[in-house]
Amino acid sequence: MGASLLQVRDVSKIYDDVRALEDVSLDVAETEVVALLGPSGCGKTTLLRIIAGLEAPDTGAVYLAGREITSVPPHRRGFGLMFQDYVLFPHQDVFHNVAFGLEMQGWDRERVRERVREMLALVGLSGYERRRVFELSGGEQQRVALARSLAPEPRLLMLDEPLGSLDRTLREQLLDELRQILHQVGVTALYVTHDQQEAFALADRVIILRSGRVVQQGTPEEIYRHPADAFVARFLGHSNLIPGRVRDRRGVETELGFLVVPDAADFPPGARVTVLIRPEAAELTADADAPNRVSVRVLDRSFRGDRYRIQVAHAGGLELTLEIVPLDRPPPEPGEEVTISLHPAGLALLAVEG
Ligand code: ATP
Repeated sequence: MGASLLQVRDVSKIYDDVRALEDVSLDVAETEVVALLGPSGCGKTTLLRIIAGLEAPDTGAVYLAGREITSVPPHRRGFGLMFQDYVLFPHQDVFHNVAFGLEMQGWDRERVRERVREMLALVGLSGYERRRVFELSGGEQQRVALARSLAPEPRLLMLDEPLGSLDRTLREQLLDELRQILHQVGVTALYVTHDQQEAFALADRVIILRSGRVVQQGTPEEIYRHPADAFVARFLGHSNLIPGRVRDRRGVETELGFLVVPDAADFPPGARVTVLIRPEAAELTADADAPNRVSVRVLDRSFRGDRYRIQVAHAGGLELTLEIVPLDRPPPEPGEEVTISLHPAGLALLAVEG
């Protein structure tokens, strides 16, 4: 990771009686792509608007390369914006849409033409200069918007749910392209989304906000494998969260019996914890020595192409949702009793809140 480019320090913002942001601090390094992830209303857009200079914080400060910019107006920050409500000019052609920022900055005509050509090649729209924006598909319009925001070589590119209006297939495709393009250009980017898949696929680092506060920061893998608490875990789509009590360094006592969990070494014996069982931790097993063997009854099964999602119940009533890839045996039928092994590396212990 490079030197810190953007620093947000202790930023708070209150609207009437809503605390939109509370003591938010974060850093974004040069060329890093950071996703701000959180449920609707957690303050993501407010934070982005404060960083862009479209909104002033009540307290706290924003720094760019060590210099305070909290009261620098938006157009003097040199940031690029790709916001949903920051739309293209529909009746102008692609060339003029992409050239807009460059002309505002007084680039000469030859340089503008060259830069627009370069940006359209980057987003896969070479030769689209004379097409009108309203004639383009939604995905093409998003590419034009990206080309426009990257053209002036912004110090920081900020994207607010840029793929939100696209259908799922197109979104997945653009997501991969967007990641490649951001890294190819080497732009520093801050990406706002409420979609964890999007944040995971795109970002080098994810920052999770809840009710205006930063609750966790880390790489996508760290956050997925070790959510800070049950709220973050549920928000990321985890549903297998069960209470447990640490027995010793090896593992925890739970309703499913004793489970070996590497994290147990981080807690004192007797500590109350929440055990996260990631769906991919489970494997159907006949091996008597497999770790964390649990007998369950299959309640439901759905085919997901590369895997099966199964809903199972333990004798005590506890239900789990698991994902299995049975390569060498038929998948279990609803009603069947099976033995699963929960791989210790697929389990995590979360501190209990309060
Ligand atoms: P979403 O994903 O739904 O856009 P968000 O995480 O971006 O949500 P914000 O738009 O930043 O959240 O809003 C944070 C909180 O501040 C919300 O409770 C919202 O209602 C409130 N809020 C935002 N802007 C204003 C405003 N201009 N006046 C009053 N309240 C506001």
